[in-house]
Amino acid sequence: MSTLGKEIRYIKGVGAVKARDFSRMGVNTLYDSLFDFPFRYDDLSEKAPIAELKPGQKVTIRGRIGSIANRKSAKSRRMIVTEAIVEDGTGSIKVIWFHQGFLTKTLRTGTLVSLSGKIDDRYGLSLVNPAYEVVGDSKVTQHTGRIVPIYSLAGALTQKLRRQVVESAMKSIDEIKDWLPKEILKRHKLVDLDRALSDIHFPDSTKDQEEALERLKFDEFFLHQLLHAKARRELKRQVAPAIKYSDAKLKKAVKDLPFELTDAQRKSVWAIIQDMEKDEPMNRLLEGDVGTGKTVVAALVALNAAADGWQSALLAPTEILAEQHVNTLEKLFGDRLTIAVFTRTKRRVKGKEVTKSQMLDALHNGKIDLVIGTHAILSADVLFNRLGLIVVDEQHRFGVKQRQALKDRKGDADGIPHLLSMTATPIPRSLALVLYGDLDRSLLDEYPAGRKAIETRIVLPNKEEEFYEKMRDEMDEGRQVFVVCPLIEESDALGVQSVNEVYSLYNAKPFAAYNIGMLHGKLKSKEKDEIMAKFVSGDLDMVISTTVVEVGVDVPNATVMFIEGAERFGLAQLHQLRGRVGRGEYESFCFLHPSGELSDLAKKRLQAVVQTQNGFMLADQDLRLRGPGNIFGTSQSGFEAFKLGSYADVDLIAAARDEAKDILDEDPDLNMWPLLKQRVLEYVDEIHFE
Ligand code: ADP
Ligand code: MG
Repeated sequence: MSTLGKEIRYIKGVGAVKARDFSRMGVNTLYDSLFDFPFRYDDLSEKAPIAELKPGQKVTIRGRIGSIANRKSAKSRRMIVTEAIVEDGTGSIKVIWFHQGFLTKTLRTGTLVSLSGKIDDRYGLSLVNPAYEVVGDSKVTQHTGRIVPIYSLAGALTQKLRRQVVESAMKSIDEIKDWLPKEILKRHKLVDLDRALSDIHFPDSTKDQEEALERLKFDEFFLHQLLHAKARRELKRQVAPAIKYSDAKLKKAVKDLPFELTDAQRKSVWAIIQDMEKDEPMNRLLEGDVGTGKTVVAALVALNAAADGWQSALLAPTEILAEQHVNTLEKLFGDRLTIAVFTRTKRRVKGKEVTKSQMLDALHNGKIDLVIGTHAILSADVLFNRLGLIVVDEQHRFGVKQRQALKDRKGDADGIPHLLSMTATPIPRSLALVLYGDLDRSLLDEYPAGRKAIETRIVLPNKEEEFYEKMRDEMDEGRQVFVVCPLIEESDALGVQSVNEVYSLYNAKPFAAYNIGMLHGKLKSKEKDEIMAKFVSGDLDMVISTTVVEVGVDVPNATVMFIEGAERFGLAQLHQLRGRVGRGEYESFCFLHPSGELSDLAKKRLQAVVQTQNGFMLADQDLRLRGPGNIFGTSQSGFEAFKLGSYADVDLIAAARDEAKDILDEDPDLNMWPLLKQRVLEYVDEIHFE
């Protein structure tokens, strides 16, 4: 077995307990440790002889311990102070550590040490609590005198131990075989993999670190693109039902709608229908800001499929959304389509409650044209008669898994069902092109006529009362209010604390007379649904929540969206939140409440939200103003797969995409590149573990 394959618990200083802490970070072997990258560095590379030290300087010195001793602190008897004198031939300096009495055992008089820290001059020149390590004459330092990597820690782990483990792995770095073809490295001036791994952990210069990063990012994008491109190619080889276009039925349905379709809706319906006429699987993304009418587009193509005898399934992310889609579509298409809702708790066909077995029968017999539901639809006992189309709403993974799950239960359909994904998350156009390449896209870039802009304002410090007044007015008129809180502390990942705080504040004073509900990540989905249902029915005047309300809930009676800590959100996210109001006939408002003084950049960002109502433009502006990375919440970004890569790397992504395409054109199964092939297989495993 290779040395890099060695389990971490056998490494000196680790052991079973700490091995478990390592394991929590996905590091089980020496090899793994090479791929668990530092999240930042401390530059301790400046070195100086003791005679030349200046106050305030962050520096590394190398010298011998002249003397060292512990004493008790004058201030607190319990505090041990370790004092040493270190000499390097040019001079000597006092070094002080607090709470580290054990040092007198490791750093005995005469030991050659390297120390990094800031030069203090409060009591004459000294170094206080410097990082230290014992150095042999030739030994390279790990913790001082260089650019030092900083890792995330868990349990009993320390930076020193983490570095030592990586250092052990480095000794066998020549076991690393580069999986990228030489030509690719050359074309993009990328460093070799072993060099990159070595320099991402222990770079000798910033330039080395940057080159390592570039190489490792390229790997991430390249693997991602290879996998996508392979999946697309395999999809192209499969067949799907060719669904006939039913001109008359569709035209009649469109004519009977209570509104005019927008041009963008017409174009999208047409593009989708043309896709489905072919016997190759459609893979189309329908993008459109909230309120642009995606659901109607989906229903129209489902209607076209039904006219030719095909069933459709619409998957919504939550029960509430499924319910909402059903309500909208029953009204619009109830007399032309047999629509069913199928979630964990709700089963209705044409508005009538049914038992589970009745539901399963109806799906299997083909009585249902369009079933709308949550993941319940994917459960193993569901069989269709002739499933032709799957529509996935607001799930950014493009329904690959969903299609797979339904593949074997589609009834006597040929091949696999067509897939339409819908999303309101704006991805800047340039970026989508490189990320998703030839994925077909339709964009609803128009709002239905008559939609009013949502008046958006920034709540200036100490002007809250004016806005609270407005909110009370709205609620007194019978309208409703959303309040959204940011996640501030890492320890409050579920938002319980932040929602509770705002609730106490509001409930105590400005909104004591109103019915307020709370929503946060700690609630069970049943409890969330109950509160949302109360809000939808009007029993609650206000709901205070984290961003769980972000996904398309429709409460036409809600007219105010009040966002706490607004500067902490991405612009696209603010825009999505704003889209929760203005869905009915009433004039609506979005108030952005910053949590404190705003930086110039933060001001510009919020002003952009005030000034533009177009989500796609905002996404582009966010990219420009704030730089990449945080445009979307991580969970939505589609970037979870990348440890290092970000939106900024558009050029690198494009390069990786082109290389992936070329290599697959030449060698679809990567037989000429066994190492790469192996790496791709591992990558698939990694993704499935997420
Ligand atoms: P979203 O794109 O956010 O999913 P929906 O499909 O839920 O939007 O549509 C929002 C509302 O607009 C629904 O009540 C729908 O019936 C209505 N709607 C859709 N298209 C039009 C249109 N062309 N004209 C007027 N109203 C429309
Ligand atoms: Mg929607």
